[in-house]
Amino acid sequence: MSWIVERFADVQGWLFQSAVLPSLYAAGLMDFAEPAFDATEFVLLGLLQIMLVYVLLRPLEAWRPAERWQDRKAVRTDVLYTFLNRVGLVPIAIYAVLTPLVNAFDAQLRSAGYIPRSLEDLIPALAQSPLAAFCAYLLVLDLADYWRHRLQHRLRWWWALHAVHHSQRQMTFWNDDRNHLLDELIAGFWLAGVAFLIGVPPEQFVTAVMLTRLVESLSHANVRLRFGALGERLLVSPRFHRTHHALGVGHEGDRYGCNFATLFPLWDVMFGTANFAYRGTETGIRDQLDGRDYGETFLAQQWLGLKRLIRRA
Ligand SMILES: [Zn+2]
Ligand SMILES: [Zn+2]
Repeated sequence: MSWIVERFADVQGWLFQSAVLPSLYAAGLMDFAEPAFDATEFVLLGLLQIMLVYVLLRPLEAWRPAERWQDRKAVRTDVLYTFLNRVGLVPIAIYAVLTPLVNAFDAQLRSAGYIPRSLEDLIPALAQSPLAAFCAYLLVLDLADYWRHRLQHRLRWWWALHAVHHSQRQMTFWNDDRNHLLDELIAGFWLAGVAFLIGVPPEQFVTAVMLTRLVESLSHANVRLRFGALGERLLVSPRFHRTHHALGVGHEGDRYGCNFATLFPLWDVMFGTANFAYRGTETGIRDQLDGRDYGETFLAQQWLGLKRLIRRA
């Protein structure tokens, strides 16, 4: 592991020295050298994640696809989403907007006399085992994610944005990052807010986010894969999440859908939204069958999402 970390640092250093620094110098932006060094790490980590997911999941999709398509054009837009999200401008923009928001939230709480307590304060036994503490944080973050997702389907204005994610008829592992930018911003604030309230240490937070993203990529993969009767209940599988995206199933009924969990199906079982029985493979939103247009390109999807939001809010 340390070998990988060292090699990663070497590549980061080399890239920074040979490409980033000279560009900053040429542009007269040497004041930004420090954030640019961090950004280089971020971009490299993002590329590494995409490579890892591609190497692991593309062969799986080719081997046992849940669905076959002649034309994979629609998937290309999702590839763009992934690059924009993992190595591109989206996180930088979100970080820029989010930091003052979270700081203001923090200041508000503190001036109201509230000082966040970590889970270790509440359950002292967790302080003895970093792994147990990490698992506890992961559980709480995932529970928060479950309720965010329920609301994304329940509230009309939020669904107007979340529909961008569900409008893909060709669901693959690239689908994970296909979201409305405003939705990304709200989700980021939600997650960072919860992490702040329960005092997740920064390095544990980063690990939790990376792990979650890996599982999310797998759960969107176009692959015929179940984890078995028990496994399906322990971790979200491609089958389980495909049912969440299923045409005429994933956004229906009095709970506005089923299988909302990101990591642990336990929440769906507990709150009565689990569906382990469905076997269909087709994904999308029901009104797409009536010809409703959610846009094919990145810009069209973002613009139509905004229009839906304004009409429904
Ligand atoms: Zn959803
Ligand atoms: Zn999804």
